[in-house]
Amino acid sequence: MPLSGSRNGPALTEALGKPLSGFDLTRDEATALLDTVETMPALLEAAAGRRDRTWGRTVTYSRKAFLPVTNLCRDRCTYCTFRKDPDDPDAWTMTPDEIEAWSRRARALGCKEALMCLGDKPELAFASYRGLLAELGHRTTAEYVHRACEIALGCGLLPHTNAGLLTREEMARLKAVNVSLGLMLENVSPRLRGRGEVHQWAPDKEPARRLRMLREAGELRIPFTTGLLVGIGETLAERVDTLFAIRDLHRAYGHIQEVIVQNFRAKPTIRLADGPEPGAADVARTVAVARLVLDPDVSVQAPPNLSPADHALLLHAGLNDWGGISPLTPDYVNPEAPWPHVDALSATCRAAGYTLRERLAIYPAYVDRPDFLHPALRGRVTALAAEVAPVAEGIEARPA
Ligand code: SF4
Repeated sequence: MPLSGSRNGPALTEALGKPLSGFDLTRDEATALLDTVETMPALLEAAAGRRDRTWGRTVTYSRKAFLPVTNLCRDRCTYCTFRKDPDDPDAWTMTPDEIEAWSRRARALGCKEALMCLGDKPELAFASYRGLLAELGHRTTAEYVHRACEIALGCGLLPHTNAGLLTREEMARLKAVNVSLGLMLENVSPRLRGRGEVHQWAPDKEPARRLRMLREAGELRIPFTTGLLVGIGETLAERVDTLFAIRDLHRAYGHIQEVIVQNFRAKPTIRLADGPEPGAADVARTVAVARLVLDPDVSVQAPPNLSPADHALLLHAGLNDWGGISPLTPDYVNPEAPWPHVDALSATCRAAGYTLRERLAIYPAYVDRPDFLHPALRGRVTALAAEVAPVAEGIEARPA
């Protein structure tokens, strides 16, 4: 029997003690906690307490440049404004010279992460793009991204690639030029691939294929970033199933360094333009449940530009990381949502009793693990780690 509803408040409040005692919440308990307003204060308190035990009073972010290598994509997720077809005047594929120029600019502004974020396998859909890749000397996007990462490394940045679904072989090659890789699991429900759902036209959003990539990344011992997309038509139980799947993968392979709780934002030009955005309390409860479901060593993150009025609430919900913030490039996936100023975010953290600090695109727990960090990258990571310093010691965002 479901646990939601006011009469089950006491049972739910009692369940909140389980993660702090080393026990797992059940699926029903986690789902009910997402659904129940009256237990929200206790939920947030429990999640914040669990965060404090492992992460202390420090909250982190990564100073990055967002390099959208190509915005061509073979998928058509109904919430996406990033993807374009080749004949769209706003379609692009960055040239090697552009990748180098932006990387140099980013490094000059103190960035340490090069986020390679791009569409999924456009070479399978567009002959003109295949021709462009051939001109550049490559057969696949993954090959070209490898080159882009080499360029960014040459400019002093640490690449982190999210190129959609990659094969085991592609990931193995990219590990040599990336300190971590990423793929949003989004949601494990195959229902969202059905007719009229957000992923109907997105073959690469098949949950089984994404779960396989996460598992293979674990087998390859690649520090990995994943997450869930909140508000795309999923049920609360499906949200919990997604968190459980990530938790189980991390328990099997120990490679999930961070989990992003990303809220859907409606935009006028998407098919989901009228779709309801998840409210602040819903997002906060999801962050808190993520903190309680996931093992404590997994960083829980929410993008600060997608909840600009709710930073203090998210801190109270147990978040310990804000993800990448750029002094140079916009969030190309949500271009209408500017990054917060690091000084303002730092002040918000301070007011809540936390210190904002910069981190690298690989979390400290993986840096001294030769199985997780390719030996060729070790020296660069060590050098940049020395540069990472508290905001209070002078790191500030500059205007784009
Ligand atoms: S969300 Fe990603 S996979 Fe989906 S259409 Fe946009 S770029 Fe492609």
